[in-house]
Amino acid sequence: MKFQRYKTHSFVRKILEGGTMLHYGAKTIPDNGYFAIPRLTSDGLMLCGDSAGMLNPQRLKGIHLAIKSGLMAAETIYECLKNNDFSAEALKSYQTRFDNSWAREELYKTRNFHAGFKGGLLPGLAHGMFQMMTGGKGLFERRVNKHDHEYMCKLDEYGRHTGKLPEKETIKPDNKYTFDKLTDVYKSGTQHEEEQPSHLVITDTDICNNQCTEEYGNPCRHFCPAQVYEMVDDPDREGKLKLQLTPSNCVHCKTCDIADPYQVIRWVVPQGGEGPNYENM
Ligand SMILES: Cc1cc2nc3c(=O)[nH]c(=O)nc-3n(C[C@H](O)[C@H](O)[C@H](O)COP(=O)(O)OP(=O)(O)OC[C@H]3O[C@@H](n4cnc5c(N)ncnc54)[C@H](O)[C@@H]3O)c2cc1C
Ligand code: SF4
Repeated sequence: MKFQRYKTHSFVRKILEGGTMLHYGAKTIPDNGYFAIPRLTSDGLMLCGDSAGMLNPQRLKGIHLAIKSGLMAAETIYECLKNNDFSAEALKSYQTRFDNSWAREELYKTRNFHAGFKGGLLPGLAHGMFQMMTGGKGLFERRVNKHDHEYMCKLDEYGRHTGKLPEKETIKPDNKYTFDKLTDVYKSGTQHEEEQPSHLVITDTDICNNQCTEEYGNPCRHFCPAQVYEMVDDPDREGKLKLQLTPSNCVHCKTCDIADPYQVIRWVVPQGGEGPNYENM
């Protein structure tokens, strides 16, 4: 919604004037930095690029790190092929390669960048400046960061801070500068077979229909860019709402997996080849 509003600002509007929306896409980025990188190998497994959280959180860039880690993984596989051994022990040399590479050095230098914003924008910017002056350390050697969903404010907490509940922001789509979510979904080219088992598994819908409605106001309706989550009238409970899912709309951005405050949404991989079709993007 904020981005839709941003496009209607007179300055941005002028830039977009005469343009046409060709495609639409949405994707989260793994920007928690060095300390969020998991162990990189296991039996028959190596993690590279975004799947390993190798993204420079200060520059929001990860292509070069994905390429570098891919190269190091390829060198490791070459060795493993020669020895016909793909055990965790044999793949350990990938971890060693990463630990000795410029990729690790670059990520280590920005290790506390994201966590620096824990106290808000201004402390985060100040910390970013110290980080540059101290070769990456900043004000602390290691700052523990919470999971993203733990920063979400409950409705009553929000009310306590601001004296009022959040107002729902709405913009009437003009289909020129601003668009509704279903038009966006269409422009993402996403496709899923309607009959396949849902690739979004809700482990406890009771939480969605009761506790979350009361405590957080079902934020999945707002943070999902593809209108997968809707709260509709529950025919069995007068005046109450229940969660309705449309998984075939999903554009695979993974926001729900990360941002759901109760962590009851499990995003699993749908059958092969399904999802958005990001041609020319
Ligand atoms: C909006 C945005 C802007 C960005 N801008 C920049 C930038 O300017 N510069 C920069 O350096 N970085 C940028 N990044 C980050 C960069 O795009 C990523 O760090 C990088 O693409 C990660 O590469 P990857 O190969 O690890 O993962 P990806 O590029 O995500 O590739 C993973 C691939 O695996 C496929 N896949 C997923 N699941 C399955 C499955 N089950 N079976 C088969 N295939 C599967 C996906 O379809 C995808 O093609 C940006 C990211 C975003 C979201
Ligand atoms: S269902 Fe989840 S992964 Fe799919 S588009 Fe919505 S927020 Fe993104």
